[in-house]
Amino acid sequence: MQADGHLLAHVIDQTPIGIMILQRDMTIVFVNQYLFTLFGGTREDFVGLTVYGLANQMPGAVDAGAIVRGITEGTLADYKLTLTMPGRPDLVCLLDSFSIEEIEPYPECFALVLRDITEEQASADLIEAKNVEMAKINTELARTNTDLKKVSELKSNFLSIASHELNTPLTSIKGYSDIIIDNMRDKVDKSVYRMIESISRAADRLHRVVNNILDVTKIEQGRLRLRPEHIDLGAVMSDCADDMVQIAEKRGITIRVGAPTEMPRFYGDKARIQQMFTSLLNNAIKFSPDGTSIDLGIVLEGEGEGKRFHITVADQGIGIDKNEHKNIFDPFYEVGNANRHSSDASKFMGGGSGLGLSIVKGIVERHGGRVWVESEGAGRDGVFPGSVFHVALPLRSEIGWDDDESRLAPESRLKEANDTIAMEAFDDGEFGKPVILFIDSDKVSIEVAGAVVENMFDFLVAESGEQGLVMAFSHRPSLILMDSNLPGLDGYRICKILRSQPETKNIPIAFFSAGANDDEIQKCFASGADDFIVKPFSGSELNKKIVRLLMKKDEEKIFK
Ligand code: ADP
Repeated sequence: MQADGHLLAHVIDQTPIGIMILQRDMTIVFVNQYLFTLFGGTREDFVGLTVYGLANQMPGAVDAGAIVRGITEGTLADYKLTLTMPGRPDLVCLLDSFSIEEIEPYPECFALVLRDITEEQASADLIEAKNVEMAKINTELARTNTDLKKVSELKSNFLSIASHELNTPLTSIKGYSDIIIDNMRDKVDKSVYRMIESISRAADRLHRVVNNILDVTKIEQGRLRLRPEHIDLGAVMSDCADDMVQIAEKRGITIRVGAPTEMPRFYGDKARIQQMFTSLLNNAIKFSPDGTSIDLGIVLEGEGEGKRFHITVADQGIGIDKNEHKNIFDPFYEVGNANRHSSDASKFMGGGSGLGLSIVKGIVERHGGRVWVESEGAGRDGVFPGSVFHVALPLRSEIGWDDDESRLAPESRLKEANDTIAMEAFDDGEFGKPVILFIDSDKVSIEVAGAVVENMFDFLVAESGEQGLVMAFSHRPSLILMDSNLPGLDGYRICKILRSQPETKNIPIAFFSAGANDDEIQKCFASGADDFIVKPFSGSELNKKIVRLLMKKDEEKIFK
C-alpha cells in the first residue's frame, strides 16, 4: 500500500502535464514536479501561495481574476495563457480545471492542469504565417495573370494590326517587282533583273510570315473560323505530297505516301488541313539530311464514338530532344540547334519563324483533334534519330460548327450556287476594252493595280466612295474594284447602294483587303460583293481574278 502511494506520487510528478491542487480560497496546496520545473523553481516556492499571489510574481500580464472565475465556475476549459519567461521564449499553455470531491481529511478543492503547447503553437503560427504569405502570393499571381493576359491581348492586337499594315506596302513591292519581271526582262540589265527577282521572292516570304502571324493571332484569340466540307483526307495528303516532291527531290529526299484507298470522308476545312500537311512536310524536309525518306501514313482506328483518323509524318532527320517536345508547339519557339546542320553526306538548313507547328496545333485542335511528336532525342555527330509527328482527328467531331464561314456568309453561298448573273451591264463599245473602275484612296495601290492591268483593260479611278458612286452610274464600268476602307461612305455602303440600283446591280464588284480577315471577308460578301483580293497581290493573280470575274459575266464579249 505504502509502495503504491509512492509510485502514484512519482507518476504524478513525472506526468508531462502541470498539476496544481488549490483549496477553495485558491491557496496552492500541491504542485507536481513537471510544473515547478517548467516554471523554474521548487515545490516550496509555490505551496502556500494563492493564485493571485502567483500571478503577481509572474512576469507579463496574467489575468488571475479570469482564471479564478473559470476554476470556480467550471468554465476554464482550454484557456490559453501566454507567459513571458525571462531569458527564454514565451511559454504558451492551455489551462483546464476540475473540482475534487471532499475526502476526509481534505476539504473540497480544485485541480488546475496545464499543458505546454509552445511547440504546437509555434508550428500553428508558422502555418498561419505561411498561409498568409501564400494568400499574398496568390493575390500577386492573380494580378500578374491578369496583367499577362492584358499583355498577351495587346501583343495579339499589335501583331494583327502590324501584319495588316505590312501587307499594304507589300502590295507595292510585290506588284512593281512582278510588273518588271513579267514585262521588262529584256529592257533591264541582267544583274538588276536578278535583284528584282530576289525582291519579289523576299516579298513572297514576308507575305507568308505576315499571314502566319495573322493565323497565330486568330488562333490565340479563338477567331480561327473554318469552312467545313466532306473531304478525302488521303487525297488531300497525296496532293500535298505531290506539291512538295520537287523541293524534296532537289535534296534527294523521297516522300512515300501510304493511305487506304477506301476511307470515310472527314468533315473539316480543306484549305486548313492542306496547310497542316504542308507545314509538317516542310519541316520534315527542312530538318532531314539529303538522301533520306519521309513516310506519310493515315489509318482509321478506334471504335464507335472514339473512331479517329490517325495521321503520321515520319522523317529520318535530326530528331527533337525529349524535353523540347512540349515547347515546339508554342508560337515563335525554335529549338536552339535547329539552324544549320551537317553530316558527312550533306549540309542542310533549318530555321524559320517558329510559327508552323503552333498553327498546325491550332488547326488540329480547332477540328477537335490532337497533335504530338515522338522522337528518341536530338541526334549529334551525324546521327539522325528522326521524328514522327502524329495527328489524331475525330471521325465525328464533337465541336460546334456554329461559326463556320459558309454559314456566316449565306449570301456568298447563294451566289456560288446561283452562278447565272445577268449580263446586260457590260458594255465595251465605248472604250474598246473592258473598263475597270478602281475606288481606292491609297494612291500607291491604285498605281500598282493600274500598271498591272493597263495592257488588258482600260481603267478609271475614284479616290472616294462618293466619287466612285457617281462614276459607276455615269460610266457603267465592266468591273469595280474597291477598298473597303474609304473616307466618307465606306466600301460596304457603296456596294449595297450599287446592288440596289437596276443600272449597277449586275456589275461585278470585288474588294481589296489588306488581310484575309474573316470578319472583313464576311462583310464583303454580306454587302453583295462577288469576290475579294488580298493585298499584296501579284500581277498575274490580280489579272486572273479580274478575268474570272468578267468571264462570269460574259465570257464571249471579253475574249472575242
Ligand atoms: P519553324 O518555322 O522554325 O520550322 P515550327 O513551329 O514549324 O517552326 O517548328 C518549331 C521547331 O520545332 C523548329 O524550329 C525545330 O526546331 C523543331 N522541329 C519541327 N519539326 C521538326 C522535325 N521534323 N525534325 C526536327 N525538328 C523539328
